[in-house]
Amino acid sequence: MRLCDCEQRPAATSLYDFPEAWVDSLHLLAETPHGRRRLLRCPNCGQRWQLDPDPRNYSPSSALHGAPRDKWPCLALKVPRDADWDHFDERPARIAYLIASRGGIGSGRCRWRDCTELALHGSAYCPEHTYDGVP
Ligand SMILES: [Zn+2]
Ligand SMILES: [Zn+2]
Repeated sequence: MRLCDCEQRPAATSLYDFPEAWVDSLHLLAETPHGRRRLLRCPNCGQRWQLDPDPRNYSPSSALHGAPRDKWPCLALKVPRDADWDHFDERPARIAYLIASRGGIGSGRCRWRDCTELALHGSAYCPEHTYDGVP
């Protein structure tokens, strides 16, 4: 049995796709106030992951409370070895997850103003505009 499969995972993975034992084995490196973002390290390979708060044991006073569940799924994001976590841009990984979770890109154009991007499968808007909550 392999100890972890960090290398095979995409940049963003649902936290619930991971074995619980692996999540429990992670070492906490840093966290922002109220645990909104947490940086953890895999003890087997050293890969750093940013974990979203688990909604099952998360304070309802959080900013995420009431947000649509599909916009804020509980994700684990890979933090590249050379990235400075304070300035880590999580947007690309979250958008990549959005595309994968919606079944890819469709054939129509995004309906947002002058946007020329292709819309998400089954959606009127491209991934960027869907992510930004348009309309
Ligand atoms: Zn690992
Ligand atoms: Zn667009």
